[in-house]
Amino acid sequence: MSADEPYSEEDTVIDLSSDLFMMSQAMRQAQNAYLAEEVPIGAVIVSEGRIIARAHNQVETLKDATAHAEMLALTQAQAAIGDWRLNEATLYVTKEPCPMCAGAIVHCRIKRVIFGCVDDNGGACGGFINLLQQPNLNHQSEVTRGVLGDESKLLIQTFFAEAREKKKAANRKKANDSPFLN
Ligand SMILES: [Zn+2]
Repeated sequence: MSADEPYSEEDTVIDLSSDLFMMSQAMRQAQNAYLAEEVPIGAVIVSEGRIIARAHNQVETLKDATAHAEMLALTQAQAAIGDWRLNEATLYVTKEPCPMCAGAIVHCRIKRVIFGCVDDNGGACGGFINLLQQPNLNHQSEVTRGVLGDESKLLIQTFFAEAREKKKAANRKKANDSPFLN
């Protein structure tokens, strides 16, 4: 909107296909993970402007180390499309995907990946390596980083801070319950 244009109602309408809106949907999934006492990471996959998959991390619930939000969302999206090729799909995930998920993203040929916070230690989309843009692999994805990154990082930091507090409290209780320390 230029300066001399009058204010219009249209300017306040949320763009339902924007990266910000779609990432806010992924953040809702991350909050679901948080409520389920899982590391709070969420993902959605969009195709032709529609959300075709929504998932959150379920490693503890399913007792499955591969049950990352992205992996679960990819499986849902392949079922929704009826094909393992997701060339036209966009994946939104609240934290930078790990090497396992980045590998799966390449196998499914996801067109675009948008993620929230960067993971300098374990991220495989430019954090410590970039598996999504390897010239020698048969597929490369476009990557956008940092959408709602601060919100995502804060939720993850809160989760781990609370987990550490719970562990300390449990250890204190154990020490108090021990007959040898009384
Ligand atoms: Zn992963």
